[in-house]
Amino acid sequence: MGAMPRLKVLFVASECMPLVKTGGLGDVAGTLPGELVRRGHDVRVVIPRYRMVKDYPALVHSAPMAVPTGLDESWAAVWEAKLAQDVPVYLIEHDVLYDRDGIYGDAHGDFGDNARRFAFLSRAGLALRRYLSFEPDVIHLHDWQAALVPSLARAAGESIPTVLTIHNLGYQGRFGADQLAAIGLGSEHLNDLGLEHQGDINLLKSGLTCATCLSTVSPTYAEEIQTAEGGAGLDGVLRARTADLFGILNGIDEQTWAPSTDPLLPARFDKDHLEGKAVCKQALQRELGLEVRPDVPLVGLVSRFVEQKGIDVFVDALEQLLHLDLQFAVLGSGQGWAERLFSKLSETHDSFRARLGFDERLAHLIEAGADLFAMPSRYEPCGLNQMYSQRYGTLPVVRAVGGLRDTVQHDRTGFVFTALTGEALAAAVAYAADTYRLAPAHFRQMQRSAMGKRMGWDQVAVQYEALYRLAIARQAGRH
Ligand code: ADP
Repeated sequence: MGAMPRLKVLFVASECMPLVKTGGLGDVAGTLPGELVRRGHDVRVVIPRYRMVKDYPALVHSAPMAVPTGLDESWAAVWEAKLAQDVPVYLIEHDVLYDRDGIYGDAHGDFGDNARRFAFLSRAGLALRRYLSFEPDVIHLHDWQAALVPSLARAAGESIPTVLTIHNLGYQGRFGADQLAAIGLGSEHLNDLGLEHQGDINLLKSGLTCATCLSTVSPTYAEEIQTAEGGAGLDGVLRARTADLFGILNGIDEQTWAPSTDPLLPARFDKDHLEGKAVCKQALQRELGLEVRPDVPLVGLVSRFVEQKGIDVFVDALEQLLHLDLQFAVLGSGQGWAERLFSKLSETHDSFRARLGFDERLAHLIEAGADLFAMPSRYEPCGLNQMYSQRYGTLPVVRAVGGLRDTVQHDRTGFVFTALTGEALAAAVAYAADTYRLAPAHFRQMQRSAMGKRMGWDQVAVQYEALYRLAIARQAGRH
């Protein structure tokens, strides 16, 4: 390790924990830089200065930064904040674009000028190099919001190694062709930058075409997105880049999600001492108004109630499962029909309780107090909850898809089923509940295996480091 030169890496992203986060992308952009710094690298992050990050402690650089917009030049103030490990985060201030309620949209839907807002982020990311006299060895882009960086570099005739990570292929940054002017590129670039997509412009597609290397957040998802079924219209583009596309699993925050130290729990436990887990189960049952019984298998679910998460599959499975001697603890929010149904079931069934909304403490208590955890996702780039569950000895019941397939070992650290149907989920939950009741020693051994797994970011950083070096070598080979 010591012999390897340290890398200078610039992250361009639309989210970064703990400043702003709506999903896994925010976790990666907020955590991975610190882990890379620990390994001796020089890593910096750039995000927009949204209204909701203005409270975060930051200092403003005295000189404004010029950002070419394609047509003319715009000016942005550059603020600097710090992440863990002293990682600098540069906040690009442009109030016309970013000073509003919401990151991508508001109650009326997505903002109408998102093409311009995030093209500006990509342009600011590139401009920052000169402004800071920081010449990165590699630029790491995240999702469509930063995907224009390799395209803009190519249009400018620059050769710079880039890695573009896909956190969720469902979001592509697709806009009408009339938005081409807003991103400051001429129509001559529609084809050479891979921007055009069925008459629209597609920022992610352009990035997938122009970036040196591509990655996504699990090996199985990397395969799935190259198929017509999982490719969301971009499978052809991805197949053409198969040699440059890699799957790297996300890590979890092993400090926050540790049952032996978790301050949000009424009792703590570890893989050799599960008494505290029984206390958590009791507390969960009591809090939700479920009958307090140690022997009944308690199934947890913490999720956004949307199609991607298979919430409809869960509902179908309940039809069968509500007849069995099981309990359910559900937390989340999302589609109205699901919220209403869960509220109703909470009133009509003693064994079913749902809490609507976002509740960090209850999420921890469910992870700790349940025996099983359901994740019947339609697709799942990586998924975090199945990893949290394993650490808390709550065996996940997951569909064999994306990161779920890569992180749960059937009958060893959880239960895995295949078909996207309520019957398949119900059968898997019933099997898991039987294991809990009839084979307690085996269940206990599974808990031990699950809780002993290492899922931290330190191991993830090693893989990204290798990918950066590969991108550097391949970009040199391109020229
Ligand atoms: P996704 O990012 O697609 O929503 P993940 O499983 O990758 O799914 O991550 C979801 C994260 O959000 C987990 O940390 C989960 O605990 C948390 N979460 C989701 N819904 C809620 C909720 N209602 N209350 C508390 N935490 C939630």
